[in-house]
Amino acid sequence: MNQDCVFCRISEGKSPARVVYESEDIIAFHDINPQAPVHLLIIPRRHFINLLDIDHQNSIILAKMLCVATELARQMKIAETGFRIVINTNRYAGQSIDHFHIHVLGGRIMQWPPG
Ligand code: 5GP
Ligand code: ZN
Repeated sequence: MNQDCVFCRISEGKSPARVVYESEDIIAFHDINPQAPVHLLIIPRRHFINLLDIDHQNSIILAKMLCVATELARQMKIAETGFRIVINTNRYAGQSIDHFHIHVLGGRIMQWPPG
């Protein structure tokens, strides 16, 4: 647990969030500043900084997070119409929270290429 990390605090129940999924190693909640009608964040409870912290040893967490994403996409009724998974990594990609997370966005038509 990193005391200075907002996502660690959410994971520990020390900061509020609209939680939609919880397990021993993963928690998912609504983004505070949604960019689509459905905008969820899925995070490992463990404080990885970003995708660059995931390696062969700990990669199972990524598979689990993606399974949570599809589960939640179905639950939120965005699976059929379509949804987007986003993993921003470091500055040029716009990573603003240094605790690994995946975005799940849906409920509207997405543009390509992304901005
Ligand atoms: P990034 O820009 O790092 O890929 O994504 C960080 C996301 O976290 C942003 O979409 C931002 O709106 C969201 N966010 C930042 N602080 C909080 C917070 O305290 N609670 C919630 N639920 N989302 C947050
Ligand atoms: Zn953290």
